[in-house]
Amino acid sequence: MNPLLTLASAVILPALLITLGYAGLCWISPFKTCRRCGGTGHTTTRFLHRPRACRRCDRGMRLRTGRRVFNVFHRIRSEATR
Ligand SMILES: [Zn+2]
Repeated sequence: MNPLLTLASAVILPALLITLGYAGLCWISPFKTCRRCGGTGHTTTRFLHRPRACRRCDRGMRLRTGRRVFNVFHRIRSEATR
């Protein structure tokens, strides 16, 4: 067996599996819990620790990065074919 083919399949196959797995994850559950606020939707200020709304999420859930990229490409395609 060709060692270059073995090396290429050893690199490409796991990368392909990881990519397809992440795409499936973004398709099945596009939202994930915000890490900044822990899913509560609000954080505390640095001084005085007063509660305030989390600026990175909407009510504790964030759109996954892969889903956000998919939405951008989908929007570009739908505007181009309009
Ligand atoms: Zn948050």
